[in-house]
Amino acid sequence: MSSKLIKIDARWRSVFSGASTREKFFEAIDNHDSIKLSNVLTEVYGQLNEVITLPDHRGILVFVDGVGIYFESDMGLTYGYHGAGPRQFNTFLLECGFHNHDAMKFKVGRLYRKDGSEEIGKIIGRRIRWKDYTSILFIYKEDYFRKYSQGEDVNCFACTKKVSVMLKTGGKFLVFNADRHSNDWLALRCQDCGFVTCWRCSYVETDTETKLKCPSCNSLDGPYLFPSNS
Ligand SMILES: [Zn+2]
Ligand SMILES: [Zn+2]
Repeated sequence: MSSKLIKIDARWRSVFSGASTREKFFEAIDNHDSIKLSNVLTEVYGQLNEVITLPDHRGILVFVDGVGIYFESDMGLTYGYHGAGPRQFNTFLLECGFHNHDAMKFKVGRLYRKDGSEEIGKIIGRRIRWKDYTSILFIYKEDYFRKYSQGEDVNCFACTKKVSVMLKTGGKFLVFNADRHSNDWLALRCQDCGFVTCWRCSYVETDTETKLKCPSCNSLDGPYLFPSNS
């Protein structure tokens, strides 16, 4: 069985939407207080169900409603070696009810469940494919902060097709109600999580309308032209 992950709160909108929650969140991080961090996050997202591990000792925490948030060492949580980060992560996990896992022994591309079970995945680009061939998409932090230039060729993170970057200052309009194939050359970038996608991978049609939906964080109207670099 694969992850229940349905939406990544990539910008931490839920945590940051309340001033007191935001304060508690930063306080927990500043004080390396994993117990408090666990309390803040479960207050916002509900109980922690799964941990998904990504390259470079970072990963995704998946909460009860299928909302995932990215974590890494600057949050005090990391894994896969002996040290302060994994020790803190273990404290965090225990507080969240994970009694059967040791973050020091976590490996990349796995899904760890609260009951102690785990799933092995294979990382291909920005996708983790599970054994039942379902998969999830994710982004790296450097994807989020990278600058792109006008006309640059990029590969869609979801399907690897080569597409072209157009910045918001590029001087053309993007016609969002165009048909499925009209903008096949165009690369889009999710305004919420930074995921880079082609038109076709983000185009969704309902009975009444057409929308662009991020294939990684599922944000509707997330995919758009790239922000200008100025
Ligand atoms: Zn694509
Ligand atoms: Zn997104």
